[in-house]
Amino acid sequence: MSKQFPTAEGSGDDPRTAELRERLAAVRQRISSATAAAGRSEEPQLIVVSKFHPAADVARLAELGVADFGENRDQEAAAKSAELAGLPVRWHFIGQLQSNKAKSVVKYASSVHSVDRPQLAEALAKAVARQQSESGRPDLDCYIQVSLEDDGGAHRGGAAPSDVERLAESIATAAGLRLAGVMAVAPLGAHPEEAFEKLAAVSRDLRGLHPDAVGISAGMSQDLEAAVQFGATHLRIGSDILGSRPQVG
Ligand SMILES: *Cc1c(COP(=O)(O)O)cnc(C)c1O
Repeated sequence: MSKQFPTAEGSGDDPRTAELRERLAAVRQRISSATAAAGRSEEPQLIVVSKFHPAADVARLAELGVADFGENRDQEAAAKSAELAGLPVRWHFIGQLQSNKAKSVVKYASSVHSVDRPQLAEALAKAVARQQSESGRPDLDCYIQVSLEDDGGAHRGGAAPSDVERLAESIATAAGLRLAGVMAVAPLGAHPEEAFEKLAAVSRDLRGLHPDAVGISAGMSQDLEAAVQFGATHLRIGSDILGSRPQVG
């Protein structure tokens, strides 16, 4: 039999899959180098942020071995996770979240990285309890989003560092929630090293009270090296793997 399309033979990649394979490999290489440079023995976990990108890309990445995906809007995440039901992937909710969306989010999310107030923790606990009685879902991993703005303001979301202890207590004592650690986004225009050093200090304080809350969710496409340097356990990488997404304002 003659081969009409020799370039497509073997890998079976469509062009988008080939592109994703290459970009994923480049990011994994950066993570390895940063881990070695930091003298760490274990690489942080990669969460690919798939917001604004179609479910087909998530399916391609799952085929390439990615198991963890991040989304920041409930409507989009609910639709995508439903479309891909049956794929062996975990969904991480990483965006600002209104309490009235908790019920929807716990149907697909294995973790929420953006818990920034006790009221949201309460809503999540209630929603998880209901979901657990219906379907036996596991406990929900909760990261406390910490604001690293100098003014402690909530510009990009997050609790002030001084509120972390109280919030941690409300998560740790809620049935169905597991206090996983802290999360932050480096403030715009700031040095990511300074921001992530501050986050590492917040994490140390938290672990003093909650020794199992070891997670540090930090680091995006632009600043993953700094995040690895300061102990990130989870990286949330979007555009460097999936490409640019439409700007929303
Ligand atoms: C979009 C987003 C990311 C990924 O950002 P990239 O710069 O595309 O890597 C990470 N974390 C949060 C909270 C996000 O909203």
